Amino acid sequence: MVQAQNPDYVILGAGVIGLTTALELSTRCPSCRITILAKLLPGDRSVEYCSPWAGANWLSVATDGGRQEGWDRVTYDKFGELADEKGNETGIKRVPIRAWFDREVEEAGVLTSEGEGKGKIWYRELTGLRFLEEGKPEGSVFGFECGSFVVDVQKYLPWLQGEVPKRGTEIFRTSVDDIREVFERSPGAKAVFNCTGLGSYSLKGVEDKLLYPTRGQVMLVENPTTPMERMYFRSPQRVNKDTTYIFPRNPGGGVILGGCRVDNDWSGEVNLEFAEDIKRRCCALAPELGRPEDLKLIQHGVGLRPSRKGGARIEREVKEERVVIHNYGAGGAGYQASWGMAKNAVDLLQSHGHQA
Ligand code: FAD
Repeated sequence: MVQAQNPDYVILGAGVIGLTTALELSTRCPSCRITILAKLLPGDRSVEYCSPWAGANWLSVATDGGRQEGWDRVTYDKFGELADEKGNETGIKRVPIRAWFDREVEEAGVLTSEGEGKGKIWYRELTGLRFLEEGKPEGSVFGFECGSFVVDVQKYLPWLQGEVPKRGTEIFRTSVDDIREVFERSPGAKAVFNCTGLGSYSLKGVEDKLLYPTRGQVMLVENPTTPMERMYFRSPQRVNKDTTYIFPRNPGGGVILGGCRVDNDWSGEVNLEFAEDIKRRCCALAPELGRPEDLKLIQHGVGLRPSRKGGARIEREVKEERVVIHNYGAGGAGYQASWGMAKNAVDLLQSHGHQA
């Protein structure tokens, strides 16, 4: 296994979680030597690598009145900073979203907050959310429009990767069978951040069987001639297998059409029949798209979201006298929670007396 000279910290994984964690750590500790090790990097396409397949956007799914909401809030603010200060460079852009739900608010799994009482609209102020009185599709119960961000992941992942060496962090492509290999190769490292996503299901020394895949299928089509000023979302509930969404990657990056959420399905195969269903549902929701037969396909995509029973694992563990900070299991929220999760992971170092 390739290894840099004596890093202070090693980050295993270069998806959105690993790269964001590296940036958070290097910002808080500019003098630290940090190395990223990863089998797959931005630009690679594999069913083992979730981040390139995401839509992606910010539409919080957190209803815990606690840490998950916190991660999403932190990331909303950070995305705002990136969109407003860096222009088109990052692939993050402010685009509102119109969302329709086919169940009552209490059952829709959105806008409720268990910690603070049902019906609490915790991100109303954050996003300028307003309920919609008109335009309800047949069968929908309620809808809202709120501020959000589209993340063109084909721009954002390379941007993250490009920021990493500017702060002195090195990236090495390498596969690890057992997390203890990282300790052996980096004897001076004060901690290893485990950001391997679904890889932690089989990574020896971790083998977290609470992890499971949630399969998603999307397609990227050309931008329609009618400009798209908003994203669309329709679902029985915020987290549901029958979810329809349309994310224009403005400006000019095509439009993502989705999708589905199928738990415990490890298949990376594109289902072409299902792709026709996605087209039909999306055209019914977003008039700008026109007719399904007029859509110009660029590519299909299938990704496995790293879901985890009980939620993402952000936890400090001492393994054979070495510190491991786990940061994986983001499920369908790895972009919208990324900066909050990275902050939480790095905070775990500080709370144990590390310099970062
Ligand atoms: P990954 O991207 O899978 O990265 C894992 C990294 O670890 C890779 O570099 C891999 O090579 C490395 N690795 C793993 N095992 C090893 C090993 N043994 N040795 C070395 N390296 C290893 N999220 C949102 O927030 N908003 C959305 O709108 C959204 N839409 C989505 C739509 C779809 C269709 C899908 C599939 C996902 C969507 N997501 C969305 C979820 C988001 O994409 C994931 O939560 C996120 O990509 C997970 O990132 P990660 O870095 O944890 O994992």
